[in-house]
This record gives sequence, C-alpha cells and structure tokens, in this order.
Amino acid sequence: MTPQNILNADLHCHSVVSDGTLTPEALAERAHANGVELWALTDHDEIGGQQRAAAAAKAQGMHYLTGTEISVTFAGETVHIVGLGFDADNAELRQGLHSTRNGRRERAQEMSDGLAKVGIYGAYEGALKFVGNPELISRTHFARFLVETGVCKETADVFRKYLTEGKPGFVPHRWATLQNAVGWITRAHGVAVIAHPARYKFTPNEEYALFTEFKAHGGQAVEVVTGSHSALEYVKYAETAMEFGLAASRGSDFHSPDESHTDLGTLPFLPGTLKPVWELLADRIQ
Ligand code: AMP
Ligand code: MN
Ligand code: MN
Ligand code: MN
Repeated sequence: MTPQNILNADLHCHSVVSDGTLTPEALAERAHANGVELWALTDHDEIGGQQRAAAAAKAQGMHYLTGTEISVTFAGETVHIVGLGFDADNAELRQGLHSTRNGRRERAQEMSDGLAKVGIYGAYEGALKFVGNPELISRTHFARFLVETGVCKETADVFRKYLTEGKPGFVPHRWATLQNAVGWITRAHGVAVIAHPARYKFTPNEEYALFTEFKAHGGQAVEVVTGSHSALEYVKYAETAMEFGLAASRGSDFHSPDESHTDLGTLPFLPGTLKPVWELLADRIQ
C-alpha cells in the first residue's frame, strides 16, 4: 500500500447551499474534528459554497479541493457525476451548472401537485422552509417537510413511499447529459468522478455502457469507498476501477447529523491497489 492511500480524504458531502443541513463552516469544523486531512464540499449542481468551504478548510488547517455533484440523465436514470479540483471561476462550468439547476422549481411545483392528489397539501411551501438556496429545491427538502408534519417517521421512508419512481411525488426530470457534465468539469481543469455507482438500478450492460461512455468523454475516476456502498461493493467497484483504468475516490456523502448514517471522515481507507483520485489533482489541492 502506498502512503497516499492511507489519507483521510472525504471528497463528497453537502451543505445548506444544496440539500445538507450544515453550513460550509460547520462541515469544515466537523470534518477536521473527525480527522479529515483533505476535504471537498460537493453541493448538488452548485458551487456557491466553494469560497466559504475553502476558507473554512484553511482556517482548520485542512487541505481542500473544489467540488460539485452534477445531476445527469443516462439511460433513463439519474446518475451523479462528482467534479473535483476544477477552476470555480470557469464560465462554461458555471453556465452548465446554472442550466442544470433550471427547472428544479417547476419540478418541485409538479411534485407538490402530485402529493396534493394523495391528500398532502402545501408541500411546495413546506419544502421551501427547509431550503437554503432557492435555486436548489430538492427531493430532500420535501422529505424533511413530510417528516416534520408526521406523514413519515424518517426521510428514507418518505423516499420509499412518495418520492421515487411510480410514487405520487415523483416527477421524471431531464438533467444534464453525461457528455456535458464530464466536459464542463474537465475543461475547467477538474477531474470527473462517477458517484456511488452501486446506487443506480442498471443492468450489467447499462452499467458497462455508463463506464465506457464516461471514460470516452474524459472521465477519470469512480467512487469506490462511499457512504452509499457496502463492504462487498467496495470490492466490486475496486475491480471495476481497475478494469476501466480509473482512479478511485472516497467520500461519505454526508448531509446531516440527524439523517446521515456515515459521518465525515469515518469510512475505511481506499484499497491499496487503487490509484487515489487526489494523485491526479496534486497541483489543484489548496
Ligand atoms: P434530487 O436531486 O432533488 O432528485 O434529490 C436527490 C437527493 O435525494 C439525493 O442527493 C439524496 O440526498 C436524497 N435521496 C435520494 N434517495 C434517497 C433515499 N432513498 N433516502 C434518503 N435520501 C435520498
Ligand atoms: Mn443529496
Ligand atoms: Mn448523489
Ligand atoms: Mn451526494
């Protein structure tokens, strides 16, 4: 094992700038307290928290990489592509994220209409109370409203009963293309990473197509050790990383002390056989 693999890097989490409940500063403090050495804030479709996160990391004496998590539609499913180490001032990336955020408000209205049909009223206004960034209303905010009003006990139940495909509050949505998301990140001098691959409901052929096309578009890494994977899935996606010649990333996907089962900086280290994504980004680390 190279010493590079035994670095406590946490390169995936969310703040109030998307669907997390903590500020960038509170996340930085928590990451540092948990022993994180290299951190990235990866808000959904948004980089508005990057300056605060980088400054907070510096104040804690923690290394930092810029981050985001872009929503993509691939083979009819939503796939998440994490971007790391990009230039946050890049105009094409900023415009691409802006266009990806567009439509969230309208989708949220439709979600609310769907919920009203099963007797849950005022969900749009209710979800808005939990939103930190008006451009970034997400299913998570609806889930918090339905927990607050006692419709469900916890957010995972809300997703299962109301917010996933075929359920009353689910609205199909077209996000960015894989090619665009990977292109925006790489042309801004960042590295594109397939987020939590085990979460997608793909057939083996579709998954193969995702990895093949991702690579063809310039994607360079995959999350292997994430809060969304089991230990068996670490092994499976370590093999996939080797098969496709991709570097590996590690991130908790932490959203909230009350909701997330994996805290910042608490995952196992990357398997020693893999190339850590931060080796590709040595000159982008702040
Ligand atoms: P959106 O981008 O609005 O479709 O919301 C996606 C977000 O919902 C994800 O980033 C997670 O934070 C959250 N989410 C998705 N599925 C679940 C689930 N089954 N349980 C809890 N949270 C979920
Ligand atoms: Mn989220
Ligand atoms: Mn995700
Ligand atoms: Mn995430």
